[in-house]
Amino acid sequence: MKTSIATVSISGDLREKLEAIAAAGFDGVEIFENDFLAFDRSPREVRQMVEDLGLAITLFQPFRDFEGLPEPQRGEAFDRAERKFDLMEQLGTDLILICSNVSPLALGGIDRAAADLRALGERAARRNLRIGYEALAWGRHVNDHRDAWEIVRRAEHSNVGIILDSFHTLSRGIDPNSIRSIPGDKIFIVQLADAPRIDMDLLYWSRHFRSMPGEGDLPVVDFMRAVAATGYAGPISLEIFNDQFRAGSPRTIAADGHRSLVYLMDQVRTSEPDLALDLPVLPPRVEVRGVAFVEFAADETEAISLATQLRRLGFRLSGRHKSKSVERYTQGDINIIINTEREGLAHSAYIAHGTSAYAMGLSVEDAEATAERARALGAQMFGQNVGSDQLPIPAIRGVGGGAIYFLDEKSPLRSVWEVEFNPVDDDQALSDAGLLRIDHVAQTMNYEEMLTWLLFYRSIFVTEKSPMVDVVDPSGLVRSQVIDNSSGTLRLTLNGAESHRTLAGRFIAETFGSSIQHLAFSSNDIFATAEALRANGMTTLEISENYYADLEARFRLPASMIETLRAANILYDRDAGGEFFQLYSTNIGEGFFFEVVERRGPYNGYGALNAPFRIAAQKRAIANTHAGL
Ligand code: MG
Ligand code: MG
Repeated sequence: MKTSIATVSISGDLREKLEAIAAAGFDGVEIFENDFLAFDRSPREVRQMVEDLGLAITLFQPFRDFEGLPEPQRGEAFDRAERKFDLMEQLGTDLILICSNVSPLALGGIDRAAADLRALGERAARRNLRIGYEALAWGRHVNDHRDAWEIVRRAEHSNVGIILDSFHTLSRGIDPNSIRSIPGDKIFIVQLADAPRIDMDLLYWSRHFRSMPGEGDLPVVDFMRAVAATGYAGPISLEIFNDQFRAGSPRTIAADGHRSLVYLMDQVRTSEPDLALDLPVLPPRVEVRGVAFVEFAADETEAISLATQLRRLGFRLSGRHKSKSVERYTQGDINIIINTEREGLAHSAYIAHGTSAYAMGLSVEDAEATAERARALGAQMFGQNVGSDQLPIPAIRGVGGGAIYFLDEKSPLRSVWEVEFNPVDDDQALSDAGLLRIDHVAQTMNYEEMLTWLLFYRSIFVTEKSPMVDVVDPSGLVRSQVIDNSSGTLRLTLNGAESHRTLAGRFIAETFGSSIQHLAFSSNDIFATAEALRANGMTTLEISENYYADLEARFRLPASMIETLRAANILYDRDAGGEFFQLYSTNIGEGFFFEVVERRGPYNGYGALNAPFRIAAQKRAIANTHAGL
């Protein structure tokens, strides 16, 4: 499989784009004409740059408003094409994209268009060039790949082929299976893009909201399966018009693009086994069985206040690392690690972010296979020097430069604690609060990074994504994206801040980047937990009286129930499946907090409707702290 990406997909000048594209591992690049025109190097110099980077130019594009014109515009269009052919020869590429005509002058008619393409194909053949015809979703007469194919078929010229673009087909709801009948060698290149489902003008949707395959809602896998069934063996090329990407880091966006293609083709390979596609075999997407631990990096002083909080939450110190300043706190099945080492990743995380939850361990069936899949998908491997008293645990880098460890039965977690830790009897322990497991891990990041991490998690782990939810912070909007699995053993929420005045935005600014902002623990009886927390001296986040008055009106809960919720600062939600209860700690350090939840019945949400009230309460608490109240 040869991979390619259009220069228009990422930011920077042509050189920066090409360097990022090469660094991400692509084989080829589509030169978008404007990127070339805006660049101050000659076509031959660009050709040399591309070659030096080990890339090939897969396509020169776009050539607009060509077919079906009346004279004299028709003749002018042919002259214009000849000049682009000159340029292509200098650039060293043999394929140009002709997109269907949008000009009001264009005359309809499949035979007229076919005759024009045939005549241009003849001129291209004289120079050993090829022309590919693409149906734009908003083309004046041709806006469907089935019509484009009929035109190409009738042009009947070996230098004329079709260019398929998933956006143009899928945005109009055209069945991609209609591609299966096109001969693979008549498809000159395949362009791929996904997009979120938005009801808007096709042109505007396409120019601003395309995304990498897997990041949006279009059935790009079905599209590519149909392409694969034709025997097509050319490059698969990303053509992504997205305002956010063009403002983002070229290297990150290019890396996301490459990951999206590897993930996509892995899905195509496994869903079309009869095609025996010549593609790398990846270990399958990984089922996560649970979050085995979360690790904090802290300095000694902050480690003490974090430990105090954990004890109030009912955790007890149960182990100390044999050779490192690392402590293990436990309750139920939950493991929290506090790392105060002065070297290694924990220390650099502390230097970069302050006290923060920078790493987590996930329980999986096969840790090595998980790491192998992640590696194939471009994840950065993480390995620290392992001492004689430590187990080598496969790990990758995650959000904010943190680490994700994989633990399996072959290196049972129990033995990690047994091998690396000395047991401790905690003489400062308070009452157990009935916390059982980590319910969810909430990571906060800049909004621009959300799609990157969505693709990262979704491509490696068996997960579903729910639609993005907007959470209103008094100072702006926070986008929230849930990634979880059906068994609830992996629940992640990604919160993307658009403004640094939002609580999430301030967290990013003060902790210098993305990381885990809150950890939610599950309880089977949140009222008993609340009572234990109170007895342990923990202050919970105070929720407004008005919230409880509204709760009564919304859910018609009995007054006694409302009173119990209010007294313990417990928030409430309900859906068709069940009920949800949540309470929060006050902020710790730079805005980190803990949450306790109880799910009664198969409630699968996260209390998104309550988030604005929680955020307002947190902001109030911060203001009160600053005012010395
Ligand atoms: Mg296209
Ligand atoms: Mg939460």
